[in-house]
Amino acid sequence: MENTFHIASFEELERLVEESPRNYDLELLRRAYRLAEASHKGQCRKSGEPYITHPVAVAELLLELGMDTETLAAAILHDVVEDTDITLEQITQQFGADIALLVDGVTKLTQINFSSIEERQAENLRKMLFAMSKDIRVMVIKLCDRLHNMRTGDAWAPQKQRDKSLETMEVYAPIAHRLGIYHVKEELEDRALRYLDPIGYNEIKNLIEKNSADQFLEKISNSIKARLQETGMTSAHLEYRLKSIYGIYRKMYMHNKEFAEIYDIYAVRIFLDNVAECYNALGVIHDMYHPLPNRFKDYISTPKPNGYKSLHTTVLGHEGIPFEVQIRTWEMHQTAEYGVAAHWKYKDGGGNNRTLDERLVWVRQLLETQRDSEDTEDLLRNIKSDLLPEEVFVFTPKGDVISLPAGATIIDFAYAIHSAVGNRMIGAKLNGKMVPIEHKVQTGEIIEIVTGPANKGPSRDWLKVATTSEAKNKIRTWFKKERKEENIAEGKAALEKELRRNLISIPEDKYEGFMTDIAKKMRLNTIEELYAALGYGGILMSKLIVRIKEEYNRVLKTADPTEVFQIPKKTGKSSNGVVVEGIDNCLVKFSKCCSPLPGDEIVGFITRGFGVSIHKRDCANAQNLDSPRWVKAYWDAGVRETFTATLELISMDNVKGISEVTTQLGNMRVPINAMNMRSTKDGRMQMSITISVNNAEHLTNVIEKLQKLKHITNITRV
Ligand code: MN
Repeated sequence: MENTFHIASFEELERLVEESPRNYDLELLRRAYRLAEASHKGQCRKSGEPYITHPVAVAELLLELGMDTETLAAAILHDVVEDTDITLEQITQQFGADIALLVDGVTKLTQINFSSIEERQAENLRKMLFAMSKDIRVMVIKLCDRLHNMRTGDAWAPQKQRDKSLETMEVYAPIAHRLGIYHVKEELEDRALRYLDPIGYNEIKNLIEKNSADQFLEKISNSIKARLQETGMTSAHLEYRLKSIYGIYRKMYMHNKEFAEIYDIYAVRIFLDNVAECYNALGVIHDMYHPLPNRFKDYISTPKPNGYKSLHTTVLGHEGIPFEVQIRTWEMHQTAEYGVAAHWKYKDGGGNNRTLDERLVWVRQLLETQRDSEDTEDLLRNIKSDLLPEEVFVFTPKGDVISLPAGATIIDFAYAIHSAVGNRMIGAKLNGKMVPIEHKVQTGEIIEIVTGPANKGPSRDWLKVATTSEAKNKIRTWFKKERKEENIAEGKAALEKELRRNLISIPEDKYEGFMTDIAKKMRLNTIEELYAALGYGGILMSKLIVRIKEEYNRVLKTADPTEVFQIPKKTGKSSNGVVVEGIDNCLVKFSKCCSPLPGDEIVGFITRGFGVSIHKRDCANAQNLDSPRWVKAYWDAGVRETFTATLELISMDNVKGISEVTTQLGNMRVPINAMNMRSTKDGRMQMSITISVNNAEHLTNVIEKLQKLKHITNITRV
């Protein structure tokens, strides 16, 4: 990363716009430039250049991102309202409402002073910025504005360098990350680090240069590509990258690693067409380079909770330098880049109950399409402020930002500040005027809660006005402490009513014992406490009544145990390929302990509420069949489905074993669903492979074939 930059000029921007494959309204950009140039005339940047070079440079960055004419024009004009005599009305008249909206958005973001805001508020702030930039293009302009300022930050005073760098780290880099503009995110972080810890920054920069990182990466990725093509994976596509300086910094200084201990400084990514090729490519890589122990991760068989899939392995290059290899299909890549939401984005017309990150997924996709496509259709225009329709951000008079769900009222706001504020509230002021407590708060409002004497307390009606569970819980807690007698009476009456409604009648002499048992189960000591908890809402009636019903039924049943497992006898019809004697079309699941396959002798077990679970007749869990819950079961003739089976095998050789097994399975057209391996102490490799087979006979056949492989011993089905 160079630290000096050429100075942007409008002539250069014009040339880049003309060279761009996309269509731009150059005349409009020229008009924007003329106005900006004239109004910034005489202003200089700290570094001495004419001020106009800054907005032009920002426009160039946006051009690189493939943004549209309006965005570029707004970038050229982004500082005129803030720094010159030009008004927003003039922009609207000369350039239209859309461009004016963008300029206004950037101006508003510029006016927020983040340096006074505490770190714990960073996430609220980032979200608020999204909520305030009515059009996502505002955010993209702001990011490029910040990037250019950071590039030219050497002219700032040291304190300003640190302030801007902290803000960049905490607010802007995470936003760039969420928008998927990763190279901007990384440059922002690296530049911020350079001001925050110049010594650490330079140390890492020198280490990278000393190791000739770029040449190394190019060399290994060329040889991998050649080998994959020889092996028949001609469509394999490779990318390689060097970890960012800040990424390395975090590992070295925050996780205390040596440069040589960081295994993912160099990374090669391989893109393939299908899963089988992924495992094959893994075999090739492990054949070419020595894999490091415990660094293989199969996120294909066990995806990360967010749906991420890929094979990761770290190998030792011939120079003794470790590097990470990630292998994935294009489809997995889509999911990794755009999140799981990428798959159902089109199905779901944009429901409101998604998180900000999920909603940003399609912003990212739009930014990506903008960059690649030649048509000038203005996709991003459509993304208005509905990015966060379900959240609002409200300020306290001190400048704290409180995030609340949309529709939240003054009461929710007061309790979000502190329960003591809520309990003492007698009213609220918005812009100095009293507002009713039912007022629904809006993003950007500054609200002052007026408090009275400490002992006043909320009113029960507030429970109806509050929308957040936090506020409701805090109100209930107050009543719990302050209004015990009332709560007991209310709870008792409510419970009696609910029992009648559910036709539960408990004889009077049994009632006390029965309810005391229930109370104990809910971790309460007495019936009184149970009533009180119901009264203030500490226990939900809906939950309590379920407990009572369970206990009530249990008592009834123990009185007559023969009724417990009565099953209506009928002729057998198959479900899931299994006929269970006496039960039609019942819910059938295959037990995990023995994973029965067609052909195996089986038996069924009636579970409580989850249908019949099928075990192999010789399963250890199916030995004592005295219980009436065991039923006969057999395979429906003509069943044709696939089943999974997991095999454990020992390989005498790390690398050859894997490729032998994957090649053999590939030849037999047996799909691999998952694969895990680990080295044993004696230098062998233990593998666990989950495959799909048609039936038990098929599986036996597969096992026989695998047993013949040279490096494989000890195959067991688990
Ligand atoms: Mn600016």
